[in-house]
This record gives sequence, C-alpha cells and structure tokens, in this order.
Amino acid sequence: MHRNPPPFDIERARRETRGCEKLVHFDNAGAALPPAPVMDALVGYLREEEEQGGYEVMARRAAELEQFYSAAARLLNCSSTEIAFTESATRAWNAAFYALNCQPGERILLGSAEYGSNLVALLHQARRVGVELVEVPDDEHGQTDPKALESLIDERVRLICLTQVPSGGGLVNPAAAVGKIARAAGIPYLLDACQALGQLPVDVEAIGCDILCGTGRKFLRGPRGTGLLYVRKSLLNQLEPAQLNHHAAELLSASEYRLRNDARRFECWERSYGGQLALGVAIDYALEWGLETISARISDLASELRRQLDGIEGVTVADRGLQQCGIVTFHTQQQPSTALQRKLAEKGINTSTVPFSANPLSSEQHSTPPLLRASLHYYNTGKEVERFIEVLRELL
Ligand SMILES: *Cc1c(COP(=O)(O)O)cnc(C)c1O
Repeated sequence: MHRNPPPFDIERARRETRGCEKLVHFDNAGAALPPAPVMDALVGYLREEEEQGGYEVMARRAAELEQFYSAAARLLNCSSTEIAFTESATRAWNAAFYALNCQPGERILLGSAEYGSNLVALLHQARRVGVELVEVPDDEHGQTDPKALESLIDERVRLICLTQVPSGGGLVNPAAAVGKIARAAGIPYLLDACQALGQLPVDVEAIGCDILCGTGRKFLRGPRGTGLLYVRKSLLNQLEPAQLNHHAAELLSASEYRLRNDARRFECWERSYGGQLALGVAIDYALEWGLETISARISDLASELRRQLDGIEGVTVADRGLQQCGIVTFHTQQQPSTALQRKLAEKGINTSTVPFSANPLSSEQHSTPPLLRASLHYYNTGKEVERFIEVLRELL
C-alpha cells in the first residue's frame, strides 16, 4: 500500500453517532445511522412546527431550507438550479425517466447492476410503449464493460442507464468511462448513484452523466423519506415531467401555465421540510469530512473485512469488480443468509440480506441467493470488524 491516509478522527465520528454505542451497525447500504447534527436539525425543526405552525416556520427558515440545494450542488459539482428535492431515489429516477418520453423502437442500454425498481419501470415502458431494453455485457471483473457498451451505440439508442454501485454487491462501475461514450454519442446518460453518494466522491462533470438520483438515508446519513435528483441544464428543457402541478409550473391564467425552468419542475410543493433541511445538513456534514477521506476509510475497513472473511472455512465473498467499496456480500456453506442475519441481530450486529429483486440482472445473484450483506461506514471500526468475525465464527 502506497497510500498514506491522513489521521481519521474516529473519536469524533463515534461521539457524533449516538447509535453506535449500543450496536454494531453494518447496514449502511440499507440505512446508515444518522449523525447527531442531522437528527438534531430534523427533530428541532419538527418541534418548531409543533409549537409555531408549519407555514410560519417555513417562512422564517426559508434561507436555511434553500441551503439544501446549494449543499447538493457542492456535493455533485453542479448548479443548484439543476437539483430537485424528492422523497426517495426511486421518485427521482422515475420522474426523470418517464419525462424522457421514450418512443416505440427506441433502445435503452442498461448495465447488469441496474436496481430492481428501475428495471420494473424499464420493463413497464418496454411493454407499454415498445422501447427495447438491451443489457450491456459485463467484463471479466463483473463490471459494466465500456467497450461492449460502445459497440452497442447506434441511432436507435435513446438512453444509457447505469447503477454506479449495486445495492447487492461491492463493485463500483466505471461510471466516467460510460460517461465518455455517452457524451461522444450525444445520448442522455441516467446514473443511479444511490449507493455511491456519501460513500465515494461523485462529480457529475467528471462522470459526464446527465441525470443522477440519490437517496438521503444511505451513505449520506440523512433522514428517511428524502432523496435528490440532478438534471443537467442542457437536457432540462427537453424533459417535460410526466405529471405537473402548480409548483412545477406557474399558473398564469385560468387557461395557461408556464413550466419552471429549473430542476424543481420535478418537485411537488408539499414535502417534509424538516427532512429537506436535515438532508442539507447531512450533505454538509459529509463534505466537512471530505468524500476522499470517507471513501479511503470505508475502503480500508471493507478490505479488512473481506480479508478476514476469506479466512473462514465455508465462507465465499461474492463481491466482484476492479474497484470495490464498503458493501461486502458473501454466503456460507453452513447456514442460509436469512438465518445468519437473524442470529447476528440477536447479538447486536445489524446486517441485511440481498433479495433477488435488488439487482436481478447481476450474475452474482443467481448462484446462491440471498447473499448476506455487511455494509460499512467510516464510523465503523477495525474492532467492530473483529467482533463481527468472532461472532460469525461462533455461529458457523
Ligand atoms: C436503495 C436504492 C435505490 C432506491 O432508493 P430509495 O430511496 O429507496 O427509492 C435505488 N438504487 C439503488 C442502487 C439503491 O441501492
């Protein structure tokens, strides 16, 4: 290892993570433990709504609420006018996808890590409209093969879809290599960065994606029921949302409206304002730690976990890919993953299993579903990894 990581302030990270005192939380790809400043912001906002009235608090704290957009823009390296607040990554992805208004005979290229929910929407449009879905083959490392993608480009291709980090595996897809091809061909590129945000540096200019979705509760450590959508300005005017409302479009008269010219055309007016505020706080909190620092720390912990898992008889680590992240998936000969997850939980260790529906196209899934998933964050420690291994050995 040539990397010389800066000293990581693990004491601060744990002091500001109240939940980590009582348990080992290895389910950060499901929902991470939020840090104290995020939850304090959320609970404080809700308390003010209780005591002052929702509209009144919203008006008084308008500037702070607005900070969500600038925080998200800093996170992704874009303009705040290219950001929409959503209740989830699914809402964000769907809003953009259906606005593309794909036509019969058009093709959509997608990688094998595509999230199951996205796949349902893609299949829906295939059935209803007659778009053709074409799966891009993986390379020998199990990641989307940019060369194979390039060879599938022709005038029929309307959209390229990629899930950067699958929810059920440790690999990181070559999102920027895909972006290069999409840009050269002038084809819109929709990136599902749900498991990447808060875990890896994600820069929409470096990657070259035109649309991106993310969620609050995973590696960003935000509250549940929050998410975000990025849409590149140059594409925005070509995307008319499939559903409109009087926040997305201004009513000019009883018979006329004008669509907003920013990404908020994908929003509704009503939402969890406390959630929006707290997601902004969570993004700033992540930026304060630094995404390079965070990803290096997570990657070290996850490598250590994979190394120790490899040393246990009957355990097979399933993660593929050249670049790997904090999501560690494996199965054991001794016990089904669902039973192991339950027994680990009884010992105060949170993990999850990966259902087939998480990324159904992935080859990792087909052999022995479900896998057990241990997903690590920077506030986890080497000691917790050791405890996990110790308990797992006992259970097996
Ligand atoms: C969790 C997840 C989603 C969906 O996020 P929601 O906020 O639950 O809608 C989408 N894509 C990937 C890769 C995910 O892991």
